[in-house]
Amino acid sequence: MLSQYKVATASVRCKHCGQDLSLISQALGVCVNCIRHDFAKVSPFI
Ligand SMILES: [Zn+2]
Ligand SMILES: [Zn+2]
Repeated sequence: MLSQYKVATASVRCKHCGQDLSLISQALGVCVNCIRHDFAKVSPFI
């Protein structure tokens, strides 16, 4: 019953910290945390 949850989930990870990304962050390639705390480092990826 819970498995229908997984179908839409792609395993995309942050290029900076490796954390699983939310749908919003998948478009960017890095997580929101890294955008906030390391914007200078992650901006080349975006
Ligand atoms: Zn990150
Ligand atoms: Zn980071």
